[in-house]
Amino acid sequence: MQHSILILGGTAEARALAGKLAGDPRFAVELSLAGRTSAPAEQPVPVRVGGFGGAEGLAAYLRQKGVSILIDATHPYAARISRNAAQAAEISGVPIVALRRSPWLPQSGDRWTEVESVADAVNALGPDPRKAFLTLGRQELLPFEAAPQHDYLVRSVDPVEPPLTVPNAVYLTERGPFRQADEARLLQDHRIEVIVAKNSGGPASYGKIAAARELGVEVILIRRPELPDVPSVETVEEMLAWLDHAPPLLK
Ligand code: NAP
Repeated sequence: MQHSILILGGTAEARALAGKLAGDPRFAVELSLAGRTSAPAEQPVPVRVGGFGGAEGLAAYLRQKGVSILIDATHPYAARISRNAAQAAEISGVPIVALRRSPWLPQSGDRWTEVESVADAVNALGPDPRKAFLTLGRQELLPFEAAPQHDYLVRSVDPVEPPLTVPNAVYLTERGPFRQADEARLLQDHRIEVIVAKNSGGPASYGKIAAARELGVEVILIRRPELPDVPSVETVEEMLAWLDHAPPLLK
């Protein structure tokens, strides 16, 4: 009998994992996206889009679809869906496993300032005008309107609509991965003095961190939120190994 797997996605790893499982006769896989981006990347398995209505809603969905393994492969900063997933697994009795990239660690030459929140990142920019590169989701940019003295370069997957009310902002609409050499050129072209980013982990968005080190640019990193304590692995390969020894089907 096949395992029915629901992958909560929205990350490069979720997509890569779905690709690895797509042709495997042991598994029937569905990928769930929040529906935040207007043109999501193509996925190798069937996709459903939109929220479930909290933990209860997700638990009901797991039961209704006969899901036998829940994989939380959401972004490490998507804390609410991870909490809901852990709770839904408990309510429904469906085993859960999380795929969580480990965070980047500082290396010699890095100039990191770690802060707790986007609001703290705005404060950490300081009172004097600076050229800042913001690589946050467009939903998280509003607090920067409180610091209109800075010049902003903003990169997001979807256009920032409406734009920020600050007088000096340039917008880039791009999806990673981003290479170090291209990131270094971007930082130089825009004379960037400071980057504001999340500690996403993984290689796809590390280019800017390496480029910042190369050029001596400060990075304000927003700390990761607390995530629920569930069984977890760090890589797609580890997840495949976990699935090789998946709990047997109860039916
Ligand atoms: P969040 O705050 O943790 O979740 C907010 C709500 O969105 C959840 O309660 C859930 O709604 C819905 N949701 C989130 N992920 C979902 C999924 N994969 N499938 C179905 N519903 C989902 O999440 P977020 O930070 O807004 O992130 C949204 C999505 O973007 C996630 O899938 C995440 O992997 C991806 N993403 C996030 C970031 C980031 O920095 N936060 C970066 C890159 C990608 P209900 O309660 O109604 O079920």
